[in-house]
Amino acid sequence: MDFTWTPEQQALREQARQVGAEAVARYGRHNDSWINGFSKEFAREMGALGWVGMTWPTEFGGGGQPDINRLIVGEELIAAGAPVAAIWFADRQMGPTLIKYGTADQQAEFLPKMLAGETTWCIGMSEPDAGSDLASLATTALRDGDDFVINGQKIWTSFGELADYCYLICRTSSDGPPHRGISEVIVPMDTPGIEVRPIKDMTTNRHFCEVWFSDVRVPVENLVGVEGNAFKQTMAQLEHERGGIDRLVSNQALYEIAKERAERDDPRVRQEMARIETGYVLGRILVTREVLRQAPAGFSAATKCFCTEHEQRVAAFVAATLGPDAMLWDDIGKGLAYDPAYTIMGGTSNIMRNILGERVLGLPREPR
Ligand SMILES: Cc1cc2nc3c(=O)[nH]c(=O)nc-3n(C[C@H](O)[C@H](O)[C@H](O)COP(=O)(O)OP(=O)(O)OC[C@H]3O[C@@H](n4cnc5c(N)ncnc54)[C@H](O)[C@@H]3O)c2cc1C
Repeated sequence: MDFTWTPEQQALREQARQVGAEAVARYGRHNDSWINGFSKEFAREMGALGWVGMTWPTEFGGGGQPDINRLIVGEELIAAGAPVAAIWFADRQMGPTLIKYGTADQQAEFLPKMLAGETTWCIGMSEPDAGSDLASLATTALRDGDDFVINGQKIWTSFGELADYCYLICRTSSDGPPHRGISEVIVPMDTPGIEVRPIKDMTTNRHFCEVWFSDVRVPVENLVGVEGNAFKQTMAQLEHERGGIDRLVSNQALYEIAKERAERDDPRVRQEMARIETGYVLGRILVTREVLRQAPAGFSAATKCFCTEHEQRVAAFVAATLGPDAMLWDDIGKGLAYDPAYTIMGGTSNIMRNILGERVLGLPREPR
């Protein structure tokens, strides 16, 4: 196996490194910048560079580039702390989902604005009583003439306050088993009846929100894919969400700072640094396998689990190295306080292990 980069890939990496450094100089450095670094201006700059939808097929306006190129650009921008959040969900998930399941009209309406870096999307999946167990979600979208009428509440909706559109996972029927009757509907966030309340987390960030829907009407044309079949579609979408470089690289900037100050004469410190640096290399191999579609179906759960637990180990190393000083550097303190989120968002590590055991390894399910 040849792990070297081609000259073109190396040049792309250099370009992304430079763009990342300039973005940090202009917009500041953000920890876990794909979720905490929000800049509409930088989103448009990425659109102009062709770095939104760079791997989407050219017939949909995308760059048609190999998936490995997106890994390179994402790794450099997020490692630098550049603010990519405003386009991240659209680029990673919503665009590919609309290409796969959307109608020609939806593709014509939504993809160009995503590609230009103009629209931010949020994902309305989790509810107060439905997180890991998505099949129990209760938000309804019921047909009334040519519209769906939506009622219910979502929670932890990242960018709920700033998004132009919500990719809503909701119940269009309560007949049959619970995972049936779930559908995906596009909801413009300026539709009357939507109320958004940001939740301030302990880092003082307020990217995720509670979102209430009260008799919100959207045309039935906003249904994505097959009505009642969203469980399958959503699982496919989560594969895009879980196995990417964004799950590995978020703390890299903090690690580089801590590395400079680490007591390298101490063999325990050297050993931990060796573990972290080896962990990064292993994580990148796992992500690369996902990106090259070489991993078995469902394996992104294991990739996410490994990579996000690596990110937490990095945070622990940074905290131990900087000690109380970490609290004096506002952004480092925030980065460390954020680390419990890594193994929760996108599905908890427990759930990832269940998927790995049941779906990938075929182990028997525990009777309920
Ligand atoms: C930073 C951040 C951003 C987020 N952004 C979004 C977003 O944009 N959109 C969105 O829809 N959601 C978002 N979420 C929500 C996230 O997807 C959920 O928090 C996650 O799926 C877990 O659901 P829950 O919080 O309801 O916990 P629960 O499902 O209630 O789980 C509680 C605990 O029980 C364990 N558990 C539950 N079921 C099982 C089981 N079957 N086997 C073993 N253990 C189990 C879990 O591992 C966990 O430890 C975000 C969360 C975070 C932290």
